[in-house]
Amino acid sequence: MRGARRYLHSMSETTNTKLIRGRTGDWEIVLGLEVHAQVASNAKLFSGAAVGAGAEPNSQVSLVDAAMPGMLPVINRRCVEQAVRTGLGLKAQINLKSRFDRKNYFYPDLPQGYQISQFKDPVVGEGEVIVERDDGSTFVVGIERLHLEQDAGKSLHDQDPNATYVDLNRAGTALMEIVSKPHMRSSEEAAAYVKKLRTILIYLGTCDGDMEKGNLRADVNVSVCRPGGHDRFRETGSFSHLGTRCEIKNVNSFRYIQQAIEYEARRQIEILEDGGSINQETRLFDPGKGETRSMRSKEEAHDYRYFPDPDLLPLELDPAWVKAIEDSLPELPDAKKARLQSQYGLSAYDAGVLIIEQDKADFYELAARGRDAKLTSNWVTNELAAKLSASHQDFADSPIGPGAIAELVTLIEQGVISSKIAKDVFERMWAGEGAPGDIVEKQGLTQMSDTGELEAIIDKLIAENPGQAAAVKDKPQAIGWFVGQVMKATGGKGNPGVVNGLLRGKLGLG
Ligand code: ADP
Ligand code: MG
Repeated sequence: MRGARRYLHSMSETTNTKLIRGRTGDWEIVLGLEVHAQVASNAKLFSGAAVGAGAEPNSQVSLVDAAMPGMLPVINRRCVEQAVRTGLGLKAQINLKSRFDRKNYFYPDLPQGYQISQFKDPVVGEGEVIVERDDGSTFVVGIERLHLEQDAGKSLHDQDPNATYVDLNRAGTALMEIVSKPHMRSSEEAAAYVKKLRTILIYLGTCDGDMEKGNLRADVNVSVCRPGGHDRFRETGSFSHLGTRCEIKNVNSFRYIQQAIEYEARRQIEILEDGGSINQETRLFDPGKGETRSMRSKEEAHDYRYFPDPDLLPLELDPAWVKAIEDSLPELPDAKKARLQSQYGLSAYDAGVLIIEQDKADFYELAARGRDAKLTSNWVTNELAAKLSASHQDFADSPIGPGAIAELVTLIEQGVISSKIAKDVFERMWAGEGAPGDIVEKQGLTQMSDTGELEAIIDKLIAENPGQAAAVKDKPQAIGWFVGQVMKATGGKGNPGVVNGLLRGKLGLG
């Protein structure tokens, strides 16, 4: 009993279990993510070479990035600042002392023969992210750590049939690796977590969040266990209650994250139900096939022989510097959400939908000033958002500005047009026909509220349809038919409130 109650409690407060039915019973999924976010910075982590996609191959490579003998790395203060800013945005512990380690491995696009990373002592420790689900409810994902590391270059296998080319432009670019605790329970929760994390990074200005360019990508750790395993893990902290995990490398879209998890969980369940066991291994997701496949198993896993990089001093941060970064933080998504709720009286759901994109929230606030907050939010998050998304545009470059949406909402609020006509006006706005007020005037769309005119239409309708009129007395819902007919006769311009009032009076519904 106690267990059942605690379970319900944890559902609302932490994460939602989505059970998967197998042949031998139910299973639950457990997920932990390692997100690689490219630091927004003009220069690389340990060199002054420029950062940015689209440049000529090997045109943004310093002698340090190319690992020429005798070159020494110099830490880029800006990158550290961005990592600290991100840590503060994740409500995380900032470690005033951290250090860099060498992670040794050979790869053609890694000229040093090692990656400089942070292994034992990362710059940021434990934090948390509050995540919105699609239904507006929230859950919390714990952050284990955030560390700084170098990105590798790029091997190009498709330029020549017999050779591989190497582009070092990306080599040495600063990455933040943000490691979550295994706190997610479904593919939807994992995608929602990455979405919220991405939003926070964009608000902070520490990563541009461009997943198509690979500037934000996730390694997804997936395991399955019998129901209750995750709750026992949360209670005791012991990983023994969880299944063996597989790590799916470098997944770079919300859709792929979900597909990879769904496939991988099914694969593991089938193995376990056939009496097998899961090999801890690194896997790749193949978007074409929708499958994951093995890259390397833990037994073959690299021994990276980490050791502190002798070329770099330990990183020591001045508390006053950290405090100054904290004082300069912008309003972050959760604070903005709370403010939108209190200032405009929006629901948690509506506010959550608005804040997930900073430009959308800004657009909303410009449009909502002095207007019906909920109505404005509907127009921004439903009609306009749908149009923008269908044409692959953002709120920042919306062809319909906040002033035009404000004008449209005002026309509805003042009863000049009905919501139905407003949709028509909106279509014309989108088609570039001008401001809503002008469209209404030019097209003669002003709502009919003149009782005399409407009365004449209604009288005629009742006279022509005596049977229907009599039926309304026994079945008041049947009034809807008359409302429809009046709207038809007025081309949708009849003021619904006035039409209803007149009909009720004339049909004897009081
Ligand atoms: P590694 O460096 O080998 O990948 P980490 O300790 O950095 O190991 O953990 C990587 C990720 O794996 C973390 O995000 C963590 O939450 C996740 N994780 C650990 N155990 C499990 C598990 N049983 N199921 C799902 N995810 C897990
Ligand atoms: Mg890992």
